[in-house]
Amino acid sequence: MISKAMALFLEFCKIPHTSFHTEEMCAWLKDYAARHHLHVQEDSAKNLLFSKGSPRLCLQAHYDMVLVGQKVEPIEKDGFLCSIDSSLGADNGAALCAALCAFDSVENLELLITNDEEVGMLGTNALELRPKSKAMLNLDSEDLDEIIVGCAGGADVTFCFDNLPLLHLEENLGVYEVSTCGFRGGHSGIDIEGSTNAIVALAQFIQGLDDVYPISINGGTKRNAIAASARAVVLSRKELPENEHFVARKIAQNPPYKDCRKVLAFLTLPLLQGVQKKGALGVELSCNVGIVQSERDVCIQAMARGNDTHELLAFIETLHKASEGFGAEFGQTHFYPAWEREQGGRLLDITQHAFMSQQQNPTITTIHAGLECGILRNKLELDEILSIGPTIHNPHSKNERLDIASFARFESILLEILKNY
Ligand SMILES: [Zn+2]
Repeated sequence: MISKAMALFLEFCKIPHTSFHTEEMCAWLKDYAARHHLHVQEDSAKNLLFSKGSPRLCLQAHYDMVLVGQKVEPIEKDGFLCSIDSSLGADNGAALCAALCAFDSVENLELLITNDEEVGMLGTNALELRPKSKAMLNLDSEDLDEIIVGCAGGADVTFCFDNLPLLHLEENLGVYEVSTCGFRGGHSGIDIEGSTNAIVALAQFIQGLDDVYPISINGGTKRNAIAASARAVVLSRKELPENEHFVARKIAQNPPYKDCRKVLAFLTLPLLQGVQKKGALGVELSCNVGIVQSERDVCIQAMARGNDTHELLAFIETLHKASEGFGAEFGQTHFYPAWEREQGGRLLDITQHAFMSQQQNPTITTIHAGLECGILRNKLELDEILSIGPTIHNPHSKNERLDIASFARFESILLEILKNY
């Protein structure tokens, strides 16, 4: 027998809801609210606020998803729910469905459902709705063994090299394309410690070669992911060495050749890639190169993250200064503040007890990734906010899997919290 929330999630999966294309899901959610006699408010960013009775606690989830693949088709396999050939959207649909079902069990509750979270928290940034509650439970974390009490802020930063000089070499050199292989990529915050960035590794490889002139470099697909592949075109007098990570082939390409040595030197600064600071709860400050594109100019898109807003701002300024030193044009967009560690209050007490009642002994921790909590806490002047969620492996990929047993425990924990708050 599957739970009511699981049955609802299977329905939910049939409605398209990729970020920026959430109209159908928005209508489906409003229809659900109407059928369950919930009070509905909506703002111009298509965020929704459902409420019932006189709530003191507001649940919060987002309703857009990252669709990798064509179509969500859920199947059960070895205790997990996944989609046949796409991401599943359990992030954040599963917890959202549990929250919708919770309205059947309690008299006083509100639920804030945000739009376009996965593409830079657009819904939350434009939020006009005002929940009544001063305590909020975000349901967008991905491990039932944790209660999240803080997260990183972040910003997209860009470095553009325009007017790079042309190379004028006396002799004719061979033109080679060097490509990477076997890099795994990963989440630019969570995986920043363990995963090698293909763009940066390629830049280092080329810099280590004698008498080689890079004339373009391209790589990465997402501004907020560790690049899994990259390729560069270089001029060289001799055959290039190869190894398990780099392959080279001779290609035909005519001048003009842009001198990209400065770009590669910039890409290999320790400032651009990896952990910048670590503390007791893990990584606290980092930077990741997401995309590099060589067209008319060479542009690098990176993301800086920090669990302390002031440190993050200071670090962004350091990046700005460094790029000036290299003559690159600096840009910064989509800044959001860190959610600095909660000191612990009534909601944390009740949440911990609810976990215990389900034989879960959660770690109370912060994460080095973005959740909507920081923005919401400031904007709504909340007293307390926490984040929990069922266990989801590999979100934003075709390997996304929802742990079905953890989802059942999550539903019970959620009801226990709502009963006691
Ligand atoms: Zn999410």
